[in-house]
Amino acid sequence: MRIGVPAETAALETRVAVTPETAKKLVAQGHTVLVQAGAGVASSAPDQAYRAAGAEIVDAATALGADLVLKVRGPSADELAQMKAGSTLVGMLNPFDAEGLQRLAAAGLTAFALEAAPRTTRAQSMDVLSSQANIAGYKAVMLAANHYQRLFPMLMTAAGTIKAARVVVLGVGVAGLQAIATAKRLGAVIEASDVRPAVKEQVESLGAKFIDVPYETDEERECAQGVGGYARPMPQSWLDRQKAEVAKRVAQADVVISTALIPGRPAPTLVTEDMVRSMKPGSVIVDIAAGRGPVGPHGQPGGNCPLTVPDQIVTAHGVTIVGHTNLPAMVAADASALYARNVLDFLKLVLPKDATAVHVPLDDDIVAACLMAQGGEVKRRA
Ligand code: NAD
Repeated sequence: MRIGVPAETAALETRVAVTPETAKKLVAQGHTVLVQAGAGVASSAPDQAYRAAGAEIVDAATALGADLVLKVRGPSADELAQMKAGSTLVGMLNPFDAEGLQRLAAAGLTAFALEAAPRTTRAQSMDVLSSQANIAGYKAVMLAANHYQRLFPMLMTAAGTIKAARVVVLGVGVAGLQAIATAKRLGAVIEASDVRPAVKEQVESLGAKFIDVPYETDEERECAQGVGGYARPMPQSWLDRQKAEVAKRVAQADVVISTALIPGRPAPTLVTEDMVRSMKPGSVIVDIAAGRGPVGPHGQPGGNCPLTVPDQIVTAHGVTIVGHTNLPAMVAADASALYARNVLDFLKLVLPKDATAVHVPLDDDIVAACLMAQGGEVKRRA
């Protein structure tokens, strides 16, 4: 089968969907791998590495015109126009973008969005949300340390003692856990908050303190359990108490890493402008939810903090707020390495060994969940 790997064209996107490592495996399975010239350069994978892996270096039209196209981000209108009806697309296609999915269906593509894979043990090796969130959590702490004008670890020197940085992590999913682990390795003192009670143990096992907000009603307890491991919007009563608790910790924090997301909805506001005002000068917020929250006072979607500006580093009330929207792309080589392995693992389900065409086994829960378009229709399940 002819498998195309176009260069990504979205702004600030540096990742690539197939690395020389996974290209070699696809070639070994008998496929022709067509990599657009330069597609891997920003991920430290030059054309010659793909050639050595047995891939062919081609132009954009050839990569996009393949039977199976592997991408990181959904195609632009221009890219879509170069794709063949009846071909298959695999990527992070944003399952909540109804118009985007409609365009993929109208173009006659069979489209799989890997973000829609269930969070089950069998799907773990193809879980792009986890592989990329892990990197985002790490990079968020690296950026915080970079922008913070003090040290993270406690330091006892002949010139006196430096106190350890106090880091508050809001939202303890995959990114939050990695942020805690990374900040811990740098010597910070860490507190973390989440709506899911199950994470308390994980937070403590990483050597951080969980900010407890006890549940007072059955409604609060039910919401906190969530659906399929995801958070559901919590009742206002609990959110108010959580806000008060978090506000106290944020006021004392040197660094806040916020990662709270609710799939298909705007990210919750956890660090209000008043809370930013209460922080010490020189403190740093890295908002991993940047660009996914409600529209802020600057007219663009903020993140967990309304003052966050997507893809900018701003200073508000003496606090540096880092709003990069694509942190994994800032660690492009490893983000691509993990993403490409996720893609390769997913392909085992739709392109079994020796197959010459893509299959869509709808009795497979992962395939069924990821299928977004087929036969001219949007297929996304609710
Ligand atoms: P996510 O990126 O969707 O959200 C980040 C975190 O923000 C979550 O922990 C969420 O509970 C939290 N959050 C939402 N609203 C909040 C609020 N108001 N205050 C504080 N925190 C808030 O999360 P994710 O990293 O994609 O993980 C989602 C779930 O999937 C988790 O339960 C995770 O353990 C689970 N998971 C399971 C598997 C698997 O079994 N294969 C793999 C990965 C993740």
